[in-house]
Amino acid sequence: MTPETDSRTPSREAGLLQLSAFLPHAGNNYARLRNIDYGPGEKPQVSTLSPWIRHRLINEQEVVAATVTVHGNRGAEKFIQEVCWRTYWKGWLEQHPSIWRGYTTALEKNIEEITNTPELAQRLEAATSGSTGIECFDFWSRELIDTGYLHNHARMWFASIWIFTLKLPWELGADFFLRYLIDGDAASNTLSWRWVAGLQTRGKTYLAGPANIMRYTNNRFSPPVGLAQKAITIEAPSPPQPHPLEFEPQKRPYEDAGLLLCDEDLNPEFLCEQGWRFSTALAVEATANRSILQIAPHVTRFTRGALKDALARSGAAEAEKHIPTGDYAAQITAWAQKHKLRVVVLSYLPVGPTADALASVWPALEKAGIRVRISVRDWDRRAWPACEGGFFKFWHKVGKNLANEDLSNRYPESTRRRQASKK
Ligand SMILES: Cc1cc2nc3c(=O)[nH]c(=O)nc-3n(C[C@H](O)[C@H](O)[C@H](O)COP(=O)(O)OP(=O)(O)OC[C@H]3O[C@@H](n4cnc5c(N)ncnc54)[C@H](O)[C@@H]3O)c2cc1C
Repeated sequence: MTPETDSRTPSREAGLLQLSAFLPHAGNNYARLRNIDYGPGEKPQVSTLSPWIRHRLINEQEVVAATVTVHGNRGAEKFIQEVCWRTYWKGWLEQHPSIWRGYTTALEKNIEEITNTPELAQRLEAATSGSTGIECFDFWSRELIDTGYLHNHARMWFASIWIFTLKLPWELGADFFLRYLIDGDAASNTLSWRWVAGLQTRGKTYLAGPANIMRYTNNRFSPPVGLAQKAITIEAPSPPQPHPLEFEPQKRPYEDAGLLLCDEDLNPEFLCEQGWRFSTALAVEATANRSILQIAPHVTRFTRGALKDALARSGAAEAEKHIPTGDYAAQITAWAQKHKLRVVVLSYLPVGPTADALASVWPALEKAGIRVRISVRDWDRRAWPACEGGFFKFWHKVGKNLANEDLSNRYPESTRRRQASKK
């Protein structure tokens, strides 16, 4: 966080400001110092861009492009790689949707177990209120609650202590993160927790050690005692075979469509670049669906603000103020009918809570005779199918070249003209 920009302003403009403030540091500085966590309020060695990237107020493609402009492809390779980790996790989960379903089902069971097991409930309460007696862990727990952000290394140590020292179910930890992180994301969060637990790269666990914590927190804490010295392997079935991704070709854009804005992609400019024009736009809030427990107010505040910002930028003649919650199918269909829409367009919804919340909307719209067009960014179209092995396989196959590719996100001009003359 830099003092010049408020890291919590949920607007594209604030995200772009933060990006340009960080860009000079994205090269060597980032590669050397990114693992050090000096604590909240201190000048971070990392970008703190995650709240904006998570909601795609700014997106991976433009972050990478801006970085390459300043540092060239090689000068900021580490930073570009980290941005691509997000892309990789998104693409991996997209090909393994049952991992998300397995997580939500296990979470429900765990929450049920808490209500019947006071001892487990007590240990969970200690972990989530910062009163376990492990100084650094308790600090991070409170930091997360107070700020909605944790440094990547702190997330790794925290998850490791949660799983291997406190022996709490990893799904409850992932849920704690998802309820408090402003950047809480189904793919990055679930798969990172699985990675620490040794479920993602089978048998490869991440064990937090006192010396590592001391060194990379700049000795801010007394040496933690009693941390697990061995990571016990968690029994779980191997992930299923990847579910192949098949995206439909870009469809002809309409000039009087209704735009649905969701928290997964709040950059409607890309749809306008494809040729879409909106007579009306509606922002859908589904933050509450991130967990069956209460979501932190700062998370809801950021997402709500980000939706409003995107509505204002949508270029829609009429932007609906009302943000429906609850019965999405009925409310979105009523909005489409009120505006006599023939077509509703939205950015692709990746696997996660918003896609779950809106699953009943698409058949309801189709039933009402309203076509649904889902637009996939060329970045995702290009990258996600390659996210089927480990990260570095993806990086060498596609990731490192993405910055050099022409990802214009356009519906091909020639096709557009051909379609127009058919009208
Ligand atoms: C247990 C655990 C849970 C996590 N949960 C989330 C989450 O819910 N949402 C989330 O966005 N990230 C998550 N991460 C990844 C990472 O910690 C954050 O993206 C990063 O700390 C955000 O801070 P930054 O913007 O300063 O990152 P920077 O280091 O400045 O990186 C720039 C951008 O690259 C992306 N990025 C960087 N590292 C990673 C990574 N390891 N995985 C995925 N994307 C990355 C983010 O979009 C980030 O904003 C998690 C990591 C762990 C270990």
